[in-house]
Amino acid sequence: HAALLARLEQQAMTDPLTDIANRRAFEEEAAQMMARAQRSGSLVAVGIADIDRFKEVNDAHGHPVGDVVLREVARRMVHAARATDFVSRIGGEEFGLLFPDTGADAAMAVAERIRETICAEPVCVEEGLHLPTSISIGLATLVPGMALEEALASADCALYKAKNSGRNRVERS
Ligand code: GH3
Ligand code: MG
Ligand code: MG
Repeated sequence: HAALLARLEQQAMTDPLTDIANRRAFEEEAAQMMARAQRSGSLVAVGIADIDRFKEVNDAHGHPVGDVVLREVARRMVHAARATDFVSRIGGEEFGLLFPDTGADAAMAVAERIRETICAEPVCVEEGLHLPTSISIGLATLVPGMALEEALASADCALYKAKNSGRNRVERS
């Protein structure tokens, strides 16, 4: 039964739509990363990415088309992130990012690369239908001893700034 248990555990940590880590996995990974960073004195950056004007995609083309966009955005984000970074879907059209051993400037550079990968090419949702897509990202650097909720609130604040400054942007708190 070990294999079955392992599979159930894997399922509990995975978002079924995009096949990437889910919110629960994000929270566990964040806790581990933060504990490690505190021991070693290294930095962790956290980000929240949110698809821009996503409601319009659903309204114009329907929910199933929106789902295709979500899947492709997830795939591109994972592809653009570094191997040690952690990319997860933490809500409807929101993604949680964790950057271990990463200061504010380096996190900005990686987040910029992720942002560019999304808007670089419209998402092909079906033959002949290519939808221009972008994300906004809010970044925060974790201070030792900070609670995850605090860091997320800080990243969310930066995300709000990115949205208000016109979207398809990265901002930091
Ligand atoms: P903003 O640029 O401010 O983020 O605008 P927005 O339209 O993306 O933001 P809003 O929060 O108004 O809308 C989010 C939309 O995401 C609404 C909801 O229908 C859609 N959404 C959430 N989860 C899913 C999903 O699993 N599939 C699909 N297709 N749509 C989803
Ligand atoms: Mg949102
Ligand atoms: Mg959105």
